Amino acid sequence: MPLYEYSCRSCGERFEILQRLGENGDHLACPACDHSEVEKVFSTFAAGAQSAGAGPGPAAQAAGCCRGTPT
Ligand SMILES: [Zn+2]
Repeated sequence: MPLYEYSCRSCGERFEILQRLGENGDHLACPACDHSEVEKVFSTFAAGAQSAGAGPGPAAQAAGCCRGTPT
């Protein structure tokens, strides 16, 4: 189940919502101020999630110059 991040247009609060496929977010409301105008945020760090857990170490340095997928 995908986890989406939303940002409140009223107070700027950011919160995450577990959302099923095909489900609209028109019923969402900000948990901080209960404002209903929220916009979806595509977090950039999600792209690097596959490297999470490795941490800063020799592995990260080794993959620094050539982080292609081994074939
Ligand atoms: Zn808010």
